[in-house]
Amino acid sequence: MKNNILVICAQHGNEKLGPLFKEYVKKHYPALFCLLDFMTGNPKALKMGVRFTDTDLNRSYGKASPKSYEERRASVITSYIRRTSPTLVLDMHTTTTTQPNILIVADTSDEVVTRYLRASHITHVLQVEPMNDLTTVSPHFVAYEVPNDALNETLYEQICRDILRFQKGQKGTPSKEVFRMSGKIMKKEVSEDVANTFVNFSYHPLGFYPILTGENSYRYSSSVPYFGFKANEKEIITL
Ligand SMILES: [Zn+2]
Repeated sequence: MKNNILVICAQHGNEKLGPLFKEYVKKHYPALFCLLDFMTGNPKALKMGVRFTDTDLNRSYGKASPKSYEERRASVITSYIRRTSPTLVLDMHTTTTTQPNILIVADTSDEVVTRYLRASHITHVLQVEPMNDLTTVSPHFVAYEVPNDALNETLYEQICRDILRFQKGQKGTPSKEVFRMSGKIMKKEVSEDVANTFVNFSYHPLGFYPILTGENSYRYSSSVPYFGFKANEKEIITL
């Protein structure tokens, strides 16, 4: 099988996991280029070192009449996925939040997704509802979301091993903590002082697990009315 995992690098132009992982593969696992098809999500934003230029690419999929640069880019990526129908799409993200390394999925019942989760070393899984992001157009989808300070060669090596185990149908860490995203934590409902007590993926007395709170793109943007997301419960599963 050739090029049957599509790896989207720089869906957000300022996030380094994708480009650095690609460099690592080039240097240490060149044979993986037969299996992995790398695509730069947002080349313009990557060049400028910004998250996006017009609209967030990861909110720009599935638009009927694409207008912004990112909406047009999303439609190019969508056509590419439809044409090449990869076994799996891997989407590489980093975050400014303090949190564990996580995998993000949309459909935990999808057989390919389950196989990837089983193969991966990562224990925390976030299940999201599609919101004009890449999951909207690719059913077999897994994203890595890691804090900037987790970017190092040990992580890239572990991701290579996740991929190799996935190919061979082997197990990595089959026990997972699954958090199902249940909504946003709205700024009008929670004070800044309370938001400062959130620990991502740890239960908060308000009755939920905060997720991606402290993300600069949410916290400091006055146009974003929420601090981050939340999950009402955590489920421990063994795959
Ligand atoms: Zn991102």
